[in-house]
Amino acid sequence: MTLIVKEVKAKSILSLSKIYPYVLNPYTGCQHGCTYCYARFMKRVTGHREPWGEFVDVKINAPDLLRKEIKKKKRARVWVSGVCDPYQPLEATYQLTRQCLEILVRNNWPVIIQTRSPLVLRDIDIIREAEDIEVGLSITTADDGIRKLFEPDAPPIPDRIQALDELHNAGIRTYAMIAPVLPGAEGLAELLRGTIDYVLIDRMNYHYADWVYRKYGLEDCLTDEFYDLVRQAFEGEGK
Ligand code: SF4
Repeated sequence: MTLIVKEVKAKSILSLSKIYPYVLNPYTGCQHGCTYCYARFMKRVTGHREPWGEFVDVKINAPDLLRKEIKKKKRARVWVSGVCDPYQPLEATYQLTRQCLEILVRNNWPVIIQTRSPLVLRDIDIIREAEDIEVGLSITTADDGIRKLFEPDAPPIPDRIQALDELHNAGIRTYAMIAPVLPGAEGLAELLRGTIDYVLIDRMNYHYADWVYRKYGLEDCLTDEFYDLVRQAFEGEGK
């Protein structure tokens, strides 16, 4: 797959969000390129013509902006990130998420991290320092074969569960985000046992990936019955 990487200077970095008070996206675009990704609306917003997953704008001034913005804005929880994965592969080189996290934590801003990547473990030293932080791994199915159909360029499911386990064992508050609820998600309650404090489940009916369900004959997993089955599995775990 082609990847077009562009270094850009953003105008601001802490944006208001409807989910948490602020959201911080160090990148525009996401190398994981999940088939169902709702964030592909960013193509329209930013004027990108490349397919979703094949471009990333790297906001190289994100830490500088953040240092200035936290002095002016009211302290509140920051979601890292909303429309990109903050630990997509480029982060291993650019370390923008790491630098921003360091700034937020050292200034006592509450943070919620959401990623599909075990690269988050690289920053466990900073995460451990934080007074108020939660780390979530998005895990959409227990079946890595299904993961390869819907999110072929995202990290394997066992690696994500291992990351949650390590974070949880380090005393960090963790959660699993099951969104969307893919085929095989009914097995997650058992796999995640002992690795999370809570779970968020969202069907995310965006329909971008309907063609994948059709192609592999998985339409049964788009039903209310399937969603209820997954929910009930977690209720049985007390989550
Ligand atoms: S990791 Fe998240 S932001 Fe990135 S493509 Fe997948 S769903 Fe979209």
